[in-house]
Amino acid sequence: MNPFPKVPSCTLISFLIVLATFASCSPPREESRAQPFGILLGPETTKLWHEVEALYRRPVRTERPSELETNAEAVVTDDGTPVIRIGESVAPTEVRIAHELLHLQMVSEGFAYSIEPRFSSGSVTPENLALFRRTAEVVHNGILHWMFYPKLRSMGLNPSEEFSGQLDAFFLGSAAPDAMTKQGLALNFFKASIEVDDAKLQEQLADHYLARGWEGPLNSARAMAETVTNNRPDSPQREMDVFLECMNSLFKESVRFSVLGQIPRQRGAIQVFTVTVLVEARAR
Ligand SMILES: [Zn+2]
Repeated sequence: MNPFPKVPSCTLISFLIVLATFASCSPPREESRAQPFGILLGPETTKLWHEVEALYRRPVRTERPSELETNAEAVVTDDGTPVIRIGESVAPTEVRIAHELLHLQMVSEGFAYSIEPRFSSGSVTPENLALFRRTAEVVHNGILHWMFYPKLRSMGLNPSEEFSGQLDAFFLGSAAPDAMTKQGLALNFFKASIEVDDAKLQEQLADHYLARGWEGPLNSARAMAETVTNNRPDSPQREMDVFLECMNSLFKESVRFSVLGQIPRQRGAIQVFTVTVLVEARAR
């Protein structure tokens, strides 16, 4: 190996790199701004993208992780960078991007970024923790979705496209509903009730539940959905009230939930809120 490379060739390479950078840089840079994930965004989603960047005072970062629990998610890094992640295995679409942008917008408005349980009387087990996280996520996201899906629909996008597909699988039995718990069945119907804008599909799903003898979960889900639609949450405080009411109605026989407090954390230009929920076993 020659430790002293010839200066001229090195300079030439640098010069070529500089040339190449100049030749290709300007247009694609504009393009990648307007085409996150390679998707050409419509004017309203582009506007939303810029609004979110203004709120966070940082560019939105995009990521395609190979392993992601959900299809897509929005996170805020410690330095306050808004990030949209779309799993490598799913297609990035405008509706997915707009959906995550709206989550980011709501986080910046003070809606709970994460909900952490505090179990009373030593009842914290990995199973309880997992059940809480899963349930809290479906309920909290369900309420947020109920709040912003009309906006997505008004932008000409179909936010529940993906969920309708999941329901088809559910009807065909491939989602193994027999293995689902009462709460799991209730959560599925709750999600369908408040996220899917298709009365016929909801009716079919209700018939399916009744035919399988799932009247309990069906009624429980309907009560939760009514809590959302009757209270019409429109602020972080009201969203949390409705969240608690839904959680309490879902686990009314066994557990009681209440808010212990919320902790704001400064991340860059915004504050993210972690809400701590006390989980207590009900006396039998
Ligand atoms: Zn969502």
